[in-house]
Amino acid sequence: MTSGTSRMPAVFFGHGSPMNTLEHNRYTEAWRRLGESVPKPKAILAVSAHWYTRGTAVTAMKQPRTIHDFGGFPQELFEVQYPAPGDPALADRVRQLLAPVEVTLDNSWGLDHGTWSVLVHAFPHADVPVVQLSIDGTKPPRFHYELAQKLAALRDEGALIVGSGNVVHNLGRIQWTEDAKPHDWAVRFDDKVRGYLAARDHGSLIEYAALDADAGLSVPTPEHYLPLLYIIALQSGHEGISLPIDGIEHGSIGMLTAVVGLEAD
Ligand code: ZN
Repeated sequence: MTSGTSRMPAVFFGHGSPMNTLEHNRYTEAWRRLGESVPKPKAILAVSAHWYTRGTAVTAMKQPRTIHDFGGFPQELFEVQYPAPGDPALADRVRQLLAPVEVTLDNSWGLDHGTWSVLVHAFPHADVPVVQLSIDGTKPPRFHYELAQKLAALRDEGALIVGSGNVVHNLGRIQWTEDAKPHDWAVRFDDKVRGYLAARDHGSLIEYAALDADAGLSVPTPEHYLPLLYIIALQSGHEGISLPIDGIEHGSIGMLTAVVGLEAD
């Protein structure tokens, strides 16, 4: 772990199956390495696909609970705890930064698996306070991009902003076989997103729905895609983006992870 860097990077994690929590595979290994390569954050602000709400909310409790927001997985997964503390002061700061958008201080949610399934690998000691910011499902993509831009100051205050979702996420087209071949449309859409990220074409990434039929199949609902917009919105003029890991699992789940503002070693 390095220290003394003034500006924190921002990370989009492609979280995939909740089972990644318990597994050690090339994705979880990439997340672990990523956690080790960033300066130790003072706090983490997480935007998870799994907190999709009406209006914007931020978790404000001192000790968020670990939410097991899924069904049909082994008991071992329901026993996972990620006991990171909350950070009420950060929640308040987020509310300040996002004004005049109204942000509810929430005391009932906690940490959902979009957040903890990746943080158990990236920050296994659960010693960094974590606050979640919800995604207002009533708003268009551009709203989320512009909202996230208002969070940029947090990067200079030691906070690591994390988005957790999946660029390609179509549960209806999922194939559970071990060696599922990625759908052609999933590969094409993933390639296209990678190209736009490399070209810093944020406009096309925001207006993804207008792209083509591949986008419609890859992003049938927006909640897993939108966390990516929160991260690219934080990319300032001179900053690069790196893509440490990618892959299409189960035919229709894209595992791309993208990092803004992390200098290469
Ligand atoms: Zn998910």
